[in-house]
Amino acid sequence: MSLVPFVFQNSKSGKKEPFLPKDPTNVTIYSCGPTVYNFAHIGNIRSFLFVDVLRRSLLLGGYKLNQSMNITDIDDKIINESIKRKVSVEEFTKPWTEAFFKDLETLHVQKLEHYPKATESIEDMVDFIEPLKTNGLAYEKEGNIYFSIQNFKQYGILSKIDVAGMKSGVRYDADEYEKDDVRDFVLWKNQKTEEEKCWHTKLGKGRPGWHLECSAMIRKVYGSGVDIHTGGIDLLFPHHENEMAISTGAYPEEEFVGTWLHCEHLLVDGEKMSKSKGNFYTLRDILEKGYDPNSIRYHLISAHYRSKLNFSLIKLEESKIAMERIQNAIYRVLAAGNLWDQVPEDFDNFNFTVPELQNLNLEFIRSLADDLNIPKALASVFELVRIVNQFLDANGDATQDAFLKESILLFYKINELFAVFQFKKKIQTLDGISEEWILEQIEQRKTAKQNKDFSTADRIRKELEEKGILLADTKEGITTWKKAQ
Ligand code: AMP
Ligand code: ZN
Repeated sequence: MSLVPFVFQNSKSGKKEPFLPKDPTNVTIYSCGPTVYNFAHIGNIRSFLFVDVLRRSLLLGGYKLNQSMNITDIDDKIINESIKRKVSVEEFTKPWTEAFFKDLETLHVQKLEHYPKATESIEDMVDFIEPLKTNGLAYEKEGNIYFSIQNFKQYGILSKIDVAGMKSGVRYDADEYEKDDVRDFVLWKNQKTEEEKCWHTKLGKGRPGWHLECSAMIRKVYGSGVDIHTGGIDLLFPHHENEMAISTGAYPEEEFVGTWLHCEHLLVDGEKMSKSKGNFYTLRDILEKGYDPNSIRYHLISAHYRSKLNFSLIKLEESKIAMERIQNAIYRVLAAGNLWDQVPEDFDNFNFTVPELQNLNLEFIRSLADDLNIPKALASVFELVRIVNQFLDANGDATQDAFLKESILLFYKINELFAVFQFKKKIQTLDGISEEWILEQIEQRKTAKQNKDFSTADRIRKELEEKGILLADTKEGITTWKKAQ
């Protein structure tokens, strides 16, 4: 398969740039992962889904990936909580790490090649100190080791922070340690009290600072830098600036990161999520309200990753309706062409023969390749839904048509990205009534209404009601159904 050329908005240059990985058959991607001391909130989840969209888009573009997301299982909050609960750091973080993976599974996030853990990478962190000291960038004070920003001339190049303007008295780093310069950040923390978790290393008893963790895990997994590094926008400064200072400072002859991608924040009802405002949701909170994982996934990925996403339950409902519109079109094509359960093989390389489908296929993949423009890709999906419905309205019985086969192929391909649509014939638990049959009734009712045959339309609605199936018509003219409670 030939490679689709991608462009990405690189945070380092602030511009859209062609994506030129060193080896398209081994694209290296590192994403800052969760700090495992709690359930992930839906903002965190948005940033993890963004990584999944990046992965699935590049795979559709023909690239082979070697991807990692770290697990931050050393952090001051983690250490304080485990002391409070009188458990080890490992015991404390284990259930939260499991919950993180469970959430990803619920949302159909593809597994990555590596999940390095900070606790398993201590030696790699220690190994960074020596070259940093040799290059005059690390100094020791009261047993702690700091990075000297003053001595690193490129500091600020990524986040465009005004280094000279970084004032004394302002806290840039959450660490309460004595440093030479307030702007400096800690690389290694000396153990302060006996109960504080520490590692016995050649630097003495202590633990790493957060920024060093990611630099070291990247080097541990890849031996050098990566093609793409991602994270939420809040990580641009100081975390990523500091990671870059550490890695480039220690190994100036190597390129640390080719492309930096940052995902914008999720807001709830226009505000930053916080527990005190009562607008703080974990994935589980939303599932408990009765929303299904597919609508949540669809909703969280449907906005562009560089736009703020304003989450609300009303918007989630709207996304569900939009998603069902696509799903209904898929069921209609499957039913009309009797194409159930025929998973097409190698649809990545399929050459579409129907011109409209050929175009939509190209538009879809080109939108992804244009800095992961999902809203634009979705416009092609809805155009596909429109032409499919139009075709079926006109040729309901054209079962052998290439159009049906190829539209299903295209839907399969689209679902490689969205991962929320069903292609199997569902035998519902509704006393043997299949979903296919319900959708057929809905279509018959629609046709009856179009023909102004309202008595047939009402009869169909009633018959369904008697079987415990309730219909709802949206203002866009779409009919959805649900089981009566
Ligand atoms: P943490 O578990 O706090 O280390 O964060 C994990 C990821 O979630 C990081 O990439 C953060 O930048 C990202 N993140 C945190 N809050 C939000 C938010 N409200 N919206 C989107 N991403 C977020
Ligand atoms: Zn990181």
